[in-house]
Amino acid sequence: MVRRLRITIEGIVQGVGFRPFIFRLAARHGIAGWVRNSGAGIVLEAEGEMDALAAFRSAMESDAPPLAVIGRIATEEIAPLAENSFVICESGDGAGMVRVAPDGDVCPDCLRELFDPSDRRYRYPFINCTNCGPRYSLVTAVPYDRPNTTMAGFPLCNACRAEYEDPLDRRFHAQPVACPACGPTLRLVDSTGAELPGDPLDRTLDLLAGGKIVAVKGLGGYHLAVDATSDSAVTELRRRKHRDEKPFAVMARDLEAVSRFAQVDSVEARLLAGPEHPIVLLRKRPESILSPSVAPANGYVGTMLPYTPLHHLLFAGQFAALVMTSGNLSDEPIAFRDDEARERLSAIADAFLIHDREIRTRVDDSVIRVFRGGALFLRRSRGYVPREVRLPMEIPPVLAVGAELKGTLCLTRGDRAFPSQHIGDLKNDATLTSLAEAAEHLQALLEISPQLVAHDLHPDYLSTGYAEGIAGLRRVAVQHHHAHLASCMADNGLDGHVIGVIFDGTGLGSDGTIWGGEFLVGGYDGFRRAANFRQVPLPGGDAAVREPYRMALAHLYDAFGADLFEQPVPWLVQLGSEERSLFLRMLARRINSPLTSSCGRLFDAVAALVGVRLRVSYEGQAAMELEGRAEECDTGRAYPFAVLHRHDSTEVDFRLMVRAMVEDLAAQVPLAEMARAFHNTVAAAVVDVCGRVRNESGLNRVVLSGGVFQNRLLSEESCRLLEAGGFQMFTHRLVPPNDGGLALGQAMIAGVAASSATPGADKGDS
Ligand code: ZN
Ligand code: ZN
Ligand code: FE
Repeated sequence: MVRRLRITIEGIVQGVGFRPFIFRLAARHGIAGWVRNSGAGIVLEAEGEMDALAAFRSAMESDAPPLAVIGRIATEEIAPLAENSFVICESGDGAGMVRVAPDGDVCPDCLRELFDPSDRRYRYPFINCTNCGPRYSLVTAVPYDRPNTTMAGFPLCNACRAEYEDPLDRRFHAQPVACPACGPTLRLVDSTGAELPGDPLDRTLDLLAGGKIVAVKGLGGYHLAVDATSDSAVTELRRRKHRDEKPFAVMARDLEAVSRFAQVDSVEARLLAGPEHPIVLLRKRPESILSPSVAPANGYVGTMLPYTPLHHLLFAGQFAALVMTSGNLSDEPIAFRDDEARERLSAIADAFLIHDREIRTRVDDSVIRVFRGGALFLRRSRGYVPREVRLPMEIPPVLAVGAELKGTLCLTRGDRAFPSQHIGDLKNDATLTSLAEAAEHLQALLEISPQLVAHDLHPDYLSTGYAEGIAGLRRVAVQHHHAHLASCMADNGLDGHVIGVIFDGTGLGSDGTIWGGEFLVGGYDGFRRAANFRQVPLPGGDAAVREPYRMALAHLYDAFGADLFEQPVPWLVQLGSEERSLFLRMLARRINSPLTSSCGRLFDAVAALVGVRLRVSYEGQAAMELEGRAEECDTGRAYPFAVLHRHDSTEVDFRLMVRAMVEDLAAQVPLAEMARAFHNTVAAAVVDVCGRVRNESGLNRVVLSGGVFQNRLLSEESCRLLEAGGFQMFTHRLVPPNDGGLALGQAMIAGVAASSATPGADKGDS
């Protein structure tokens, strides 16, 4: 019996070859009807025998094009029309929610053509098709169509046009399609913009082989490239970039090359080679082909595989691994405009490998590490943005602007949230401008007009100032750690109330002090602070962040009082008597020493106390190195700690631990054992306090969020203990636990506060 179905598909189904895919599928199964783009995605009508329709319907999902992400599918049966052909209709309406796909990599078909001397795109660095290539980074407006991309200025040649217009061709409506005859071209220039003679690619390979630094224009910005196996080249890049210790990311030719410097398990291999091509933090091998200067004093190396045709061409030569670090000066956004890149990078790069396909939106590489068999995002950017996160409920449209570090923003529409690309640390005007541009561009692309703007409680953050400057939107200030809690809930589709274990570096608390070691109870509609780490002074404020030994002094003072300098901590001898009395005064009278309950600072303090790192040159360095040392030892030992109930608060007190660690120092216990025992102690505190909060609140669900949970060892140990304790626990899956995931939580809290339509809704623990 012939039946006709009307099927609507939501998700990322435009600009990824979905209509021609449906066309071919219909031909294969003898289906008649039509397909077209719609406001929400794709609409099609399919008519045929029941069996054929069923096969068509299931292949639609199982065989979907690689860049497509299928969301909701709705099927309704309608009256057959006795048609006998299947057609692709031109997109009629651009209204509604058109989804631009994230930037893709190079598909196997394009890769084969790239290295096929008989192909007309042989060695052409801008080869792509509907299954691969750039998307988000070059879209200028919606609907996603060639005139609305940075390919608008490249009229198609006849050969490309024929492919572009043929529904059966792999390049049907591939908006960035190009060839050497009609598309962008590669050039190699010096810092003045003067073109260097010879083939740009060959010349670049020569320069790199000679240890030179080449700025390479990529998909979402510039990379600085050097031979990662050359110590002198990597050291020179460090010197010119003024970057003492922060690890560089490397790009390796293939998985075999990766195995020559890092350990890769199957999950890591899958993520490395997946279409998103993130940087994956991999454990270093003891014997490695990489220069030790790539990631000094770090057990991990951030690694990615080639993801553009240009990368593949660079790796066709002799290199096993290149450093590919963001082309920026420290603390500035990644360079992505040509003149700006040349100006800013001229003191670093010896040459610039550039091209005339403009990057509309700067998109940094994403960074992940593997945790419990999946990706744990440290930075969610290229390859993932602008994918959506499904929210547990509909909320009014919100723009959330994040906090200060690892800035991102988030827009919502209905029950969908769209976290932005990584914008950077909002500490200067350049980054603030990036934030404003990203907000405007994403609003236009997603056709979202926010009714609310959500921002951090901190009045001095540039993001807060930006939010205050937006006219006509209701503003909602969100407490930092409440936003982390809500972010992890939204990330897991949770509603109701939970226990939130929120450990991070810095966030302004509701009481005006600096929080960061928090046990919260609440949900999107509010929270209370159930427990927190005992506060210590932050001697010198921001200086204590750069100099972890100051945090060690604060904790020693807390544990030993004025006797702190009598303790057998080896490095204390480095402090002269003047410095000692200065610190004592500071700590005793709390001069320029705001109080903090920060867990990140506790990690800093312990890293300094045991001698891992007294001063840091980048954020998170001390904690990262402490984790690295802890991984060298698998003791189950933990230090003592206390949980104290005051009249209205519960305090986790680590003074007993600090005293025990000082005894260990005197007994010359191995550093790795102390580092590991410290991790065990914090995890033990997590489950201990969660147990107490469960007893008084009846809640059993625990969310773990905050930058400290980038620490895999702590996350794993906490999860293990929580599960053993019968808790249901949730960690981040789609956005980072650090402040890069904060905007999602801010958006949920603001949205729920504004939608008073459902007062008294069920807030119980499910
Ligand atoms: Zn392709
Ligand atoms: Zn062409
Ligand atoms: Fe935070």
